[in-house]
Amino acid sequence: MPRASLRPGTGGLASCEKGGTYMAEQRRRERQDAAGDVAELENCIDLRPAEVKKLREMHRLRETDGGYAPLFGLEEGFKGPPTYCAYTLNNFRELRQLERLSQEQRFAIEVVAQVLPFKTNNYVVEHLIDWDDVPNDPMFVLNFPQREMLLPHHFEEVAALLRRRAKRREIEAAANRIRLKLNPHPAGQLDHNVPTLGEARLTGMQHKYRETVLFFPSNGQTCHAYCTFCFRWPQFVGMDEFKFAMQETELLVEYVRAHPEVSDVLFTGGDPMIMGTANLARYIVPLLEARLPNLRTIRIGTKALSYWPYRFLTDEDADEALDLFRQITASGLHLALMAHFNHPRELRTDAVKAAIARVRETGAEIRTQSPLMRNINDSAEVWAEMWRQQVQLGCIPYYMFVVRDTGAQHYFSVPLVRAWEVFRDAHNSVSGLARTVRGPSMSADPGKVEVLGVTEIGGEKVIALRMLQGRNPDWAMRPFFAKYDEQAIWLSDLRPAFGQERFFFESELERMYGQDGARRCGRGRNRGNRARDGDKPLPATLV
Ligand code: SF4
Repeated sequence: MPRASLRPGTGGLASCEKGGTYMAEQRRRERQDAAGDVAELENCIDLRPAEVKKLREMHRLRETDGGYAPLFGLEEGFKGPPTYCAYTLNNFRELRQLERLSQEQRFAIEVVAQVLPFKTNNYVVEHLIDWDDVPNDPMFVLNFPQREMLLPHHFEEVAALLRRRAKRREIEAAANRIRLKLNPHPAGQLDHNVPTLGEARLTGMQHKYRETVLFFPSNGQTCHAYCTFCFRWPQFVGMDEFKFAMQETELLVEYVRAHPEVSDVLFTGGDPMIMGTANLARYIVPLLEARLPNLRTIRIGTKALSYWPYRFLTDEDADEALDLFRQITASGLHLALMAHFNHPRELRTDAVKAAIARVRETGAEIRTQSPLMRNINDSAEVWAEMWRQQVQLGCIPYYMFVVRDTGAQHYFSVPLVRAWEVFRDAHNSVSGLARTVRGPSMSADPGKVEVLGVTEIGGEKVIALRMLQGRNPDWAMRPFFAKYDEQAIWLSDLRPAFGQERFFFESELERMYGQDGARRCGRGRNRGNRARDGDKPLPATLV
């Protein structure tokens, strides 16, 4: 197991490190300056963007007073702050840790990464992956493509092209053909969630549930590392026609103004925290300045706490990012970081603990979520431990999701009945403070569908479900029942119980779409990529 540390390691990463001594000297200067700057803050009562810099200095004074989360191990002689270094298809073979893998395993990474996105970084490699347990290590599986993530015939198709050194164009064409069979945009995202403003179709936004608008800043459509399960994978593979992104913050402001029912704006991606703070502020500050009476919460979906906690610690504009958070909370809005943590390992390093403390100090809440995934976190003990650690660090467990019907679903999926068992066992072994979590929940076409459990009604064994959110808000919290099915992995695998033809929402959904609603809301067998690609069955190990 790698030692959890804040310091950059040296293994194979010398080229990524910033040389020179750490800025102990600079910190001393900052401390001297801070007292004077705080005095000036008395004039900055409305917390406008112009005051951000001054707020930063105030934060630094707080650190010296012990009222601000410690930055971390700043001993004299400490070598520079960690410098981010990405590993992708182009350079991953430079990682000396991969010498533990066979040639065949390294080739498999190369094959799968032609189709699915692949990126890791020096922090993940050094501090999160247990290389003694590779290839089974969950953090390795989370970051490095595995052979079985492609269906066997897809794998063979790409492998054959690589073996005969086919032209880049040919490989890319094959990869795109395969991608199109992986349901790149599930749950009607392209067809039904894109809002309009007058004549304009706002392709960088989604508005599915009444209160919440999703905004995809065009500069935030990448991440510090990519998760192999990611349901947003089309954002990263150059298929621009499937990409959500938008620069027009003004349109976002106008849209929220025109929709008084919207109370929450979720900045998502990718990972918006990949952006420099100045960029992030360009999206967020106009929303604050518009003083929209209906806007109550800004959410930021991010995995930076896990994949690059230095974003909140030592990156050049880390303090400015925290200042921006403080500006949001000081404006009277709630700021929620929707943090992705998939495994308790991600919460154990000193860096993530310090980053969480610094974010919380700004008044932001951190709510946590993850899918339940085979090969990564499919055990109640793992989830219970993750939730316990989160609560201890001051985070709020929020969602356990079901792996979505896209990408490598066949590799990660856990049957719904089993997912509920894991959830129940984990839930029942943690204290009440961790029981804020909901799930297992499917972000399906009609809405967010929670598996409530298995029960027997009138002699029929059924799966009880309810919607937490619905395309029609009135669908939420209504229980409904499906025939018991131990193999079902998604809503579309389920059949209504008690001899019913349809689930209660299907006719209305069909009317909403004006066509073929049954196809989307529960009438066809899904079973992962098999239904979409149907010609060849998966090996038994993947079923
Ligand atoms: S961090 Fe989020 S958006 Fe980025 S790859 Fe992982 S799941 Fe996808």
